[in-house]
Amino acid sequence: MTVRRIGGATIEKVEELCAAGFRPNRMFPKFDQQAFDVQKHWMVPTHVEAGSDRLVGSVHTWIVKTGRHTILIDTCLGNDKQRHNPGWNKLDTPFLNRLRACGCAPESVDFVMCTHLHVDHVGWNTKLENGRWVPTFPNAKYLFAKREYAHWETERGTQGEGKVNDGSFDDSVLPIVEAGKAVMIESDHQPDPLLTIKDYPGHTPGSIAINLKDDGRTATFSGDIMHHPIQVYHPDWSSQFCWDQDMSARSRRTLLEDCVESNALLCPAHFPGANAGYVKPEGNAFRLEWDEQR
Ligand SMILES: [Zn+2]
Repeated sequence: MTVRRIGGATIEKVEELCAAGFRPNRMFPKFDQQAFDVQKHWMVPTHVEAGSDRLVGSVHTWIVKTGRHTILIDTCLGNDKQRHNPGWNKLDTPFLNRLRACGCAPESVDFVMCTHLHVDHVGWNTKLENGRWVPTFPNAKYLFAKREYAHWETERGTQGEGKVNDGSFDDSVLPIVEAGKAVMIESDHQPDPLLTIKDYPGHTPGSIAINLKDDGRTATFSGDIMHHPIQVYHPDWSSQFCWDQDMSARSRRTLLEDCVESNALLCPAHFPGANAGYVKPEGNAFRLEWDEQR
């Protein structure tokens, strides 16, 4: 396992899955084949499947240890959960053993933070025990952005039980609230002196990024403000999963500008390969210098 350092804090990625998924013309409504082909030389095969052009995506958690606290950022899909996506249905992965191998026993987690409440970011919030969904991390507070939670709670009211986010609100978010482990936060909330939060709405109404800063260095955990590294080069390519395409594109550009300004290590939720990198301005957009230390 590779441990990255930001000042006195450490970051480690724990992967649940990595697979080829959508073709880019399906993923991005603004997709342009020629622009995609210009970047293909470095994207194949790690980020784009050879031959098919399907986008390769990882589903992973970031473990942050600040010295004061152990924090998990985004909790993947989880085991035993009934989902319509066959690649995500009733998973049985050794994810918790992988966490333990990083010195992160479930009992040791102080905070669970979700960048947003989509199905692939909340799964391990809970586990199945005697037929019930219970908090996986018994000593953790789970921090949910107030605006994000309110959105999905309203959706549940209109769509009905078990329908929101393919059932994930009911099996991975509500049980946390019912267990009294949830804390609804605004973006001025600071769970640890090294952590700050910034709103980047658009992918979902309450999408946030989490900044870790120490000793003049910054890492930015950006969730799904970008799904794939091609979006660094084309920040106007919002995904088909974005709640508001234009707002998402604006937030993406702001996030990338913020990363340039603070020279932050960008740590998204689904980039495979080196998983993280530094954003540099290029023309009217950006490029990514991968952090190959992994
Ligand atoms: Zn995601």
